[in-house]
Amino acid sequence: PSPRAIVEVGGEKPYAITIGPGLLDDGALLGAGLRGRHALLVSDGNVAPLYADRVTQALRAARPDVRIDGYFLPPGEASKTLAHFAEAIDALAATGATRDACVVALGGGVVGDLAGFVAACWMRGIDCVQIPTTLLAMVDSSVGGKTAVDLPQGKNLVGAFHPPRAVIADTEALLTLPPRELRAGLAEVVKYGAIRDAAFLDWLEDRADALLAGDDAALADAIARSCRHKAEIVERDPFERGERALLNFGHTFGHAIEAEQGFGGLNHGEAVAVGMVLAARLSARQGLAGEAEAERLAALLARFGLPVALPGGLDPAALLERMRLDKKAAADGLRFVLWDGIGAARVVAGVADEAVLAVLEK
Ligand code: ADP
Ligand code: ZN
Repeated sequence: PSPRAIVEVGGEKPYAITIGPGLLDDGALLGAGLRGRHALLVSDGNVAPLYADRVTQALRAARPDVRIDGYFLPPGEASKTLAHFAEAIDALAATGATRDACVVALGGGVVGDLAGFVAACWMRGIDCVQIPTTLLAMVDSSVGGKTAVDLPQGKNLVGAFHPPRAVIADTEALLTLPPRELRAGLAEVVKYGAIRDAAFLDWLEDRADALLAGDDAALADAIARSCRHKAEIVERDPFERGERALLNFGHTFGHAIEAEQGFGGLNHGEAVAVGMVLAARLSARQGLAGEAEAERLAALLARFGLPVALPGGLDPAALLERMRLDKKAAADGLRFVLWDGIGAARVVAGVADEAVLAVLEK
């Protein structure tokens, strides 16, 4: 068997994240989470033609007793709706699924979030096996149990905490991922180094070229290390009452940029890259860390082909207003995840508007 890494996520319902090449053909691994005789494979119109048959065949071979149905979404964030949620629920109902049915999510964050929410709701919660196929989903959204769909009023407004039964990340699936999506995932990888692992940031600087070239071993290492960080954080703070907030480094700025661009400009990872640089610069302005550290972060992100400055045409005052509305902003003035330097993030409340504007206008 090919080399694989396993990251255990503890908590009330522990589960394992398996990372490595060729896992999509490993029926025993894929089927280990299936307790009953029904599985609904949820995927999207890009991923299903590439991988759904392989996964289905591997599962059928290992678990001939399980009936496997499919529900495929149109690709893109626009599909993360209550309407598609309802269709997926209808698909489960049509199969006569019982409480031991399993939802298998094969795709990026959109598929994982929607399928996870379907699993959270069907009969008050059934198993969900996450098979992330984007780097972003492998290192972030498939781990930790946050599930949701969007409303016209905002992203992820309807959802639930529902940890998966297993996460299976096949690094070979990344070979078909558009380069821009790979780079977006690298932004979240850099985030783990930035918030709690300075040595990881050194390693990313060393291995940047290998990662960009899609080197399997380098990607597997980066994913495993990222997942270990996410696992440690969500184990200690599953419901985001404290430490989990550190995962929002760069996200208060990033969400504002995404929303202000009407979700048609930078993608999530790109917006977070810009947001992290702004957060690092704001930290320097607040006297917490040095400018040089902000520039080192910006240099690494730029090497990964990510934007590190605000896109043109965005109004600082409008961005500030968005940040005030962000559900992560608290009543006591603007709250940001800032850092005392690389690897040392913390939540800072009561940041003055002028400081934020100064960083946005720079
Ligand atoms: P994310 O995981 O970045 O949150 P999406 O679920 O929207 O977001 O996935 C990003 C895009 O990449 C979508 O168009 C999706 O269909 C496509 N995609 C996902 N995984 C793969 C893959 N392994 N190969 C090719 N395209 C993929
Ligand atoms: Zn993110």
